[in-house]
Amino acid sequence: MPSVRVPCSAHDRARIRRTLPAMLLAALSACAGNSAIESGSLEVTVRDPATGGGVPAASVRLTGTSLAAITNAAGIAVISDVRAGAQPIRVQSVGFCVNDRTVRIAPAIRTKVTIWNCGDVVEVHNAPTEPAIAVLDLRIGSGPASQCLADELRQGVGYMDVGMNAMPITPCHGAVALLTRNHAVYFSNDASALPWTASPGDVLSVNVSPSLLHVPIRVTISSHASLPYAGVLQLTQDQLKMAGDILSNDLAGFDLAGDETGAPVVIREATAAQKGIIGTGCANVAAIRATPALYSQGHLNIFVVEQATDHYGNDIAGTSCLVEQAPDIIFVSPRVAKPHTLLHEVGHSLGLQRPMWGHTDGLEGFWGTNPSEPLNLMDSGRALAIAYLSVGQVLRMTIAEESWLNLPSAPNGSTVRQRQAPGSSEPLSVPCGCPASEATDDCAALSRDISRTGVKNEPTTGTLACGTFPVGPLAVSCGAPTNVTAVLSPVGALGSARFVSLDPMVLTVTPSDNNSKMASLTGVANGTGRVSVWADGSPSMFTVVVSGCP
Ligand SMILES: [Zn+2]
Repeated sequence: MPSVRVPCSAHDRARIRRTLPAMLLAALSACAGNSAIESGSLEVTVRDPATGGGVPAASVRLTGTSLAAITNAAGIAVISDVRAGAQPIRVQSVGFCVNDRTVRIAPAIRTKVTIWNCGDVVEVHNAPTEPAIAVLDLRIGSGPASQCLADELRQGVGYMDVGMNAMPITPCHGAVALLTRNHAVYFSNDASALPWTASPGDVLSVNVSPSLLHVPIRVTISSHASLPYAGVLQLTQDQLKMAGDILSNDLAGFDLAGDETGAPVVIREATAAQKGIIGTGCANVAAIRATPALYSQGHLNIFVVEQATDHYGNDIAGTSCLVEQAPDIIFVSPRVAKPHTLLHEVGHSLGLQRPMWGHTDGLEGFWGTNPSEPLNLMDSGRALAIAYLSVGQVLRMTIAEESWLNLPSAPNGSTVRQRQAPGSSEPLSVPCGCPASEATDDCAALSRDISRTGVKNEPTTGTLACGTFPVGPLAVSCGAPTNVTAVLSPVGALGSARFVSLDPMVLTVTPSDNNSKMASLTGVANGTGRVSVWADGSPSMFTVVVSGCP
């Protein structure tokens, strides 16, 4: 029966009933909410997941009826006068498996569906033309041959062929992360929402967030003695442009914005008085935080200074103040910085912290040119403009527990991601592994990545810093130096860790040197002091009880 569209006010219904024969009333009863006798048409596109192309000459049939059509050269078949509502269909073609699906036919219009014949597919429902990367925890095989696969990577545009028959996930761990160019990273570990059945042709259809995640930053230009202000401004704008390009290229799912609505970044110049407060490095974190004109709790506060310095007074290109528990404060020196330093420091603030402070120098699985130029953004030796982020790094920046996006950044304790993904039923943050090759249930290894141009780094023989010792209260006698040690991997390796006394009136810390995993603590006043150790994810802090002072 053909569908009939009529205006639907109560008045209309009454008028229709008074004036039309009863036999027509049934056809018009859409107004009364009975859509069962309405019909629409169905357009089925049958696609081959291996190629993305249409499958011609496939039969599309409404199960149990004579309504059927054969797909054309483009893989499209149209069936008219299909009863509205849920309808089972069967798609079948020579050389492919049989797909049984249920489609929901809307009344009076053409309902379009895509059937993947027959592999399992991950579909980015609301971004069909965007490059995408899926990270999948799956189960394949059955019975004794069943196995769990972790962090399988698939690439595609709008959809990704799983390339195997994903089975019902139990008893494996199920998770899916989706990276796209213009939308926040999607992550779910809700196994019950996975569509995988024992049959091929399952579709995991994901609606990604409507927009990128906006990471709010505030940029303040401070000292610029050796360059005119306009020059520093230009260098800073270049750094922001470079950051945007890298984030887009690597499907990072976020941008650097002026606020959480995505407003443009504002670059300010510090006043003379403010420049004194900003100084040249993280030693000034407390003073900066006490100055509202310089510091916003809900932003990454980026200070552009003539020459940033580290805890040892060394000149550095930039730093995130992680040791001071201030991942929301960053220093960058455009005079010495590489073009991508600003984003490199943002990377540290967003959880790229383990091992080796988050640097990928020599870590296995990252890419470089042959023979010697590292290509990763987080390689401290990276000098050229072009740099990339691995899939594992992108994922960690969004979902790692230590990422600033998942740390409280508002008076009410909310996080950037809580504010921008309100009501999300998914866990916003998860623990991630260390070193680079170690994955957790939900977080892929830091080095997990697609193939890139260049050569993959060999396994490192260097030292990875994934823990510290001691982690508990330590008793120190006044005036007597006491050694502390960072726990590094492999056991017994030589390497570096940074120690900072947060209560220098109670005790001081003397690092053995810039490249040591040891430091000595010296009590200067009776009391309890805190020491921050930077050889782990979030800097670990331990307390020290000093006694015996006069
Ligand atoms: Zn760094």
